[in-house]
Amino acid sequence: MKYVDEFRDRKFAQALSGQIALAATQPWRIMEVCGGQTHTILQYGLEDLLPSTVQLLHGPGCPVCVTPLELINKAIAIAPVPDVILCSFGDMLRVPGSTGDLLQAKALGADVRIVYSPLEALNLARKHPDRRVVFFAVGFETTAPANAMAVYQAKRLGVSNFFLLCSHVTVPPVIAAILQAPNNQVQAFLGPGHVCSVMGTAEYEALCRNYRVPIVISGFEPTDLLEGILRCIQQLERGEARVENQYARAVITAGNEAAQAIVTEVFDVSDRIWRGLGSIPKSGYRLSYAFRQFDAEREFQVEAITTEESPLCISGQILRGLKKPSQCPAFGTQCTPEQPLGATMVSSEGTCATYYKFGKLPLKPVSERDTP
Ligand code: SF4
Repeated sequence: MKYVDEFRDRKFAQALSGQIALAATQPWRIMEVCGGQTHTILQYGLEDLLPSTVQLLHGPGCPVCVTPLELINKAIAIAPVPDVILCSFGDMLRVPGSTGDLLQAKALGADVRIVYSPLEALNLARKHPDRRVVFFAVGFETTAPANAMAVYQAKRLGVSNFFLLCSHVTVPPVIAAILQAPNNQVQAFLGPGHVCSVMGTAEYEALCRNYRVPIVISGFEPTDLLEGILRCIQQLERGEARVENQYARAVITAGNEAAQAIVTEVFDVSDRIWRGLGSIPKSGYRLSYAFRQFDAEREFQVEAITTEESPLCISGQILRGLKKPSQCPAFGTQCTPEQPLGATMVSSEGTCATYYKFGKLPLKPVSERDTP
């Protein structure tokens, strides 16, 4: 398929692999930020194409994985309210809260529905003026513009029965938090291609300057990632720390300014709790004062719900690149995709689920692997 096969070309991948081996004269640890990038790395066995000196660490860029447990519990608390239709993307329905998940709430009679966009949820609200429709909105900067647009349209159209249960997080603050940690292991980042297609590259320039770390904005296909790794290593070997844009077919320096404008109009920057990582200052969005009437936490008075994580789950350390799923004693035993203990086992982009699916450990055949 044009525009896809060329980025999965075996010979090009092998050539990049050879260049990486030549370039890396000492050990380096590189973190890929996005869950989609982790998925490609495991699916195509890219780590097998790297010299043993180059280690990939899997980052916190899976939106389902970093959604705090307390927000799942808030959704589960709102869902059974008699006049509520609770909508979200499919992955969120399976994320376990403290007392079950949204699919179980649905089985018990709650009106929980899968939608494919926030505007679909807004249309449901317009179709059912006697019901309150809640869209459970999670994600990074990539999904924030569509959610902002749904709220903006709700206000413009005078729809008063549409609400957002919102957990938006942003990438640069979590990169800073990883780098500030005393036990940080990351020396360079493959930057988040999709996020940067919306937000541009300016925030990453500041990270490179402040922390002396190379960041290569990378795509999601096998040769995108190998080229990103090569460029990271070349910078590390030269002692450089700057932003490079490997994903130039999708990312421009300024990003998508119209998308940024709607996000700024509807949301304020706020502190956010990241599952496994705790509270990170100014690391997300909340509805601004002008749009507070659409805030589901305020409407249903669930702001006070707080929860504790399972002591078994080490996803916080995995999301910081400190451990791999194989080092979790529950992996593949108490915790499987069918019965997940933590969110990183639920989402298709979660590191634990990806390891399980692609047989990184001897639990499943590598039947779906398709090496470039
Ligand atoms: S395998 Fe399960 S319990 Fe272990 S870190 Fe991953 S999600 Fe948490």
